[in-house]
Amino acid sequence: MRRVYLDNNATTPVAPEVFEAMRPYLVSDYGNASSIHWYGQQAKAAVENAREELARLINARPAEIVFTSGGTESDNAAIFGIVEAAKGDSKHVISSDIEHHAVLFACRALEKRGVRVTYVRAGSDGVVDPADVERAIGPDTVLITLMHANNELGTIQPLEEIGRIARQHDIFFHTDAVQSVGKIPVDVEALGVDLLSLSAHKLNGPKGVGALYVRRGTILKPLLYGGHHERDRRPGTENTPGIVGLGRAAGLAREGMPEEAARIGALRDELEAGILARVPDAAANGGRLHRLPTTTNLRFDAIEGEGFVIAMDLKGIACSTGAACSSGSVEVSHVLSAIGLTPAQARSSIRFSLGRYNAPEDVATTLGILPDVVERLRAVSPHYRKAVASVK
Ligand SMILES: *Cc1c(COP(=O)(O)O)cnc(C)c1O
Repeated sequence: MRRVYLDNNATTPVAPEVFEAMRPYLVSDYGNASSIHWYGQQAKAAVENAREELARLINARPAEIVFTSGGTESDNAAIFGIVEAAKGDSKHVISSDIEHHAVLFACRALEKRGVRVTYVRAGSDGVVDPADVERAIGPDTVLITLMHANNELGTIQPLEEIGRIARQHDIFFHTDAVQSVGKIPVDVEALGVDLLSLSAHKLNGPKGVGALYVRRGTILKPLLYGGHHERDRRPGTENTPGIVGLGRAAGLAREGMPEEAARIGALRDELEAGILARVPDAAANGGRLHRLPTTTNLRFDAIEGEGFVIAMDLKGIACSTGAACSSGSVEVSHVLSAIGLTPAQARSSIRFSLGRYNAPEDVATTLGILPDVVERLRAVSPHYRKAVASVK
């Protein structure tokens, strides 16, 4: 069976170039980057080289990059780090209702500690209005944390405008850019962010490594206590192979950026248009104007998402009902609810996310299989005719 992977927003395969770059640091150059002997110096040089590569991808200075264990840690380090370093008894944070759980649940934890959080509501297009962010600002606002590209919809937030607002009001601005880094241009100066989270495994690097960009001069209270690694900002022996992999993945992404984005975007458009043309009572979720080239989120009336994903998997096609972390839970996606979908619509929604190794045959294979799967599931659904009757 020909397998097709259309779940690149959940994770991506490690590029062979990345794997080859990592190999020596697992096998022969295994030193601790803090050691003074040859082994340590090899590791140290590799870590610093990766830091430069990654800094170049996002237009940062190498000294502003802190390596972490991934996107989740970077989000938590930024959010708790800023809020706990902030002075005053009354603290307020602005976020949105379409954030990844790594941000959303960090904000909920802040609320339990007495911090006030405003969750700005995204529109039905899956985009936050900067005016709503500005209106939410109060005298005690210490942080704005808003994602760059949404992992479920692919929608891109107007960070430049929000960055300008944050700067005018002298408020720290963090973005979770885990889905956008390596896919579209991400420039910390143009976006006006003070902190930015990214993760290697979303851009053809290894799992368990990521980074937090911290603008020069930004004071964070650390999450972890230990050694003097990463300029005292993140203790723990550096994950040299992982960091090298992240650096190489950043280099690959930068080299191929405009062409790859165009190629993947064309495949995504073909897949989306092909499905919408072949499947009746299907629709796209979220706005399609400001969107990553990698992602489409579609709903098929009366289809139960989990059942659809399993039926597609049996045919060799991997797609997703939304955030991978939510699979197995019966809750509907908070993102799809936030943009106004009914629970039934949210449950019938499927995310297809493409990446570096998808080819035109993947789209053709999927278009050959998907309409039958939908039809078969609808044939046994008690809701299908009713659903059609109610939307017409
Ligand atoms: C995957 C993802 C994360 C979490 O990153 P990990 O490296 O898996 O911890 C955070 N935010 C977004 C938007 C993501 O897509």
